[in-house]
Amino acid sequence: MGSVATASDFERMLRGANLRVTRPRLAVLAAVHAHPHADTHSIIGAVRSELPAVSHQAVYDVLRALTAGLVRRIQPSSSVARYEARVGDNHHHVVCRSCGAIADVDCAVGNAPCLTATGDQGFSIDEAEVTYWGVCPECAAAPATR
Ligand SMILES: [Zn+2]
Ligand SMILES: [Zn+2]
Repeated sequence: MGSVATASDFERMLRGANLRVTRPRLAVLAAVHAHPHADTHSIIGAVRSELPAVSHQAVYDVLRALTAGLVRRIQPSSSVARYEARVGDNHHHVVCRSCGAIADVDCAVGNAPCLTATGDQGFSIDEAEVTYWGVCPECAAAPATR
C-alpha cells in the first residue's frame, strides 16, 4: 500500500476476493481508494463522473459486496456510514465533533494489539473499534461562529 493503485491493481483485488470484475465494482473501488472515509453520497458522485448511468442501488450493492474484505465500513455515532480501502490493520479513527472530519489513527501500541482484550468473555474477537473524538485543526483555528 502507499502507492497509487491502478485499474489492474483493482482487478487483482476483486479476483483475490473471489468477486467478478465489473465496471461498477472497479469504479467504486477506485472511488473508495481516492476518497478515504467518503460517505455513500460522495462515492456515488465519484463513480458517476466515470460511469454516469450507474444507479444508487448499484453503488449500494457494490459497496456491500466490497465490504467482504476489500472495503471497510465505519459509522461513528451520529455520522452516516463511511467507507475506506485501508482494511485489515484495525486502525482507529479520530472524528471532529464540529465538522465531522475523520482521520486515521494507528493503533496506540503497535500492530492491532487492541484485538487482545483482557477478558474476551468467550467471544471470538476479530475487530476492535476505537473512535477518538475532538476538534480538527481547521475547526480549532476557525473563529467561533455560534
Ligand atoms: Zn472540524
Ligand atoms: Zn480509516
